[in-house]
Amino acid sequence: MKIGIFGTGYVGLVTAAGFAEVGHEVICVDNNPALVQQLKDGQIPIHEPGLAESLKKSTESGNISFTTHPIIAIDFASVLFITVGTPAQADGSANLSYMNDVANTIGTVITGHKTIVVKSTVPVGTSRRIADIINLAITSRNTDATICVVSNPEFLKEGEALSDFRKPDRIIVGSTDANSIAVIKKLYESFSRNHEKIVLMTQESAELTKYASNAMLATRISFMNELSKISEKLGADIEDVRRGIGSDRRIGPDFLYAGAGFGGSCFPKDLAAISTMAKDAGVETPIIDAVQLINIQQKEILIRKASSYLGDLSGLTCAVWGLAFKPNTDDTRESPALQLVYSLMNSGAYVRAYDPIVKQIKNDGGHSKLTICANRLDAILGADVLFLATEWNEFKNVDFKHMGRVMKQKVIVDGRNLWNPVLCRSFGFKYIGIGRS
Ligand code: NAD
Repeated sequence: MKIGIFGTGYVGLVTAAGFAEVGHEVICVDNNPALVQQLKDGQIPIHEPGLAESLKKSTESGNISFTTHPIIAIDFASVLFITVGTPAQADGSANLSYMNDVANTIGTVITGHKTIVVKSTVPVGTSRRIADIINLAITSRNTDATICVVSNPEFLKEGEALSDFRKPDRIIVGSTDANSIAVIKKLYESFSRNHEKIVLMTQESAELTKYASNAMLATRISFMNELSKISEKLGADIEDVRRGIGSDRRIGPDFLYAGAGFGGSCFPKDLAAISTMAKDAGVETPIIDAVQLINIQQKEILIRKASSYLGDLSGLTCAVWGLAFKPNTDDTRESPALQLVYSLMNSGAYVRAYDPIVKQIKNDGGHSKLTICANRLDAILGADVLFLATEWNEFKNVDFKHMGRVMKQKVIVDGRNLWNPVLCRSFGFKYIGIGRS
């Protein structure tokens, strides 16, 4: 089938790669000319395992191309995906201006019949409003073009995005239009070979399902962070508790890790959006509000723990391992690690940071206190404390003996409970974890 995709960010590129791999032809549109040029030159601007290889193969075979001209994709495709950003606004609501721009563009040039698929995460009712915007533009042009808008939210996890797209747990499709449902089923046929993955519902239910899913996952994390405080006070170990409850099949093991809080481009903004959406509809959201509040507090926990042991951090050298909001991605949006770095610098500490993929971060204050190091050992040279902020694989096995020799003070704040406290202590380290004594 012929597909057009608006927005070549994380979701757009992964969607393009995933569909092209199974033989669909894809034209990607982005209104950022520099980004499109980069993609045309074969440079993939984001780090996502397997993505560069997949896109290279499909661009070489002619299954994917990139353009800044919407009309090229609109004329070419029978199905148009919208995968532009929906960032949070100051009041927590989703900014739909990028969505609206794409809808206007489609309505202005569309001919014939197209299925429009909203893949971005959008507030309930948006898919219908997108249809209204496009239809208004069509009517004002006096053409006989027709559209049907389907909601098809995306559930990929950054760091595993392409494998999630290739093997989805489910494909949520919000539509009651039989023709559009048939088009979407055909499009996703290759992903449902083992068993039917499509879960059909209305547009409103599909839109809410996306928010509900992220809210549920975030709730598990904040719940564990709350439990970690109880564990610390009562002498339990949150890691034992996690294994204990995660092995209950009714609960399951995922998203039960206590740590420095959740970040990324989705959870924080989607929680803010669902809470705003609910309140606008007259529904209070005490659980979702608590999840957000716990997370805001949790993002300060590492610096608080370090200060309560080391005292004033001003003038100390703090090593930070990990900057991305989670492993296997270069995404630092809302990353707890970045918040830690900025808080440390604001406290007067010198920061030596290392991440396997992230090699620069925004340094608005132009702080001379920040050094981005080339490797993990360089970062801990002369450090008074090491913060483990992101659990990249290369941090799992480390030489504590050597680390103890090159650090000034042997203090570890393990923000992801990655290391064995007994082992760390056996090398003379002061070990401070989350929810474990
Ligand atoms: P992103 O910011 O990485 O990419 C968005 C892209 O859209 C940018 O390249 C931007 O230039 C482009 N764009 C903006 N306006 C445009 C226009 N008028 N025409 C063409 N291109 C335009 O965003 P993302 O992380 O891919 O997220 C996209 C959506 O998917 C969001 O709603 C997000 O919540 C949702 N989502 C994201 C993830 C994730 O892990 N990143 C997972 C599931 C869902």
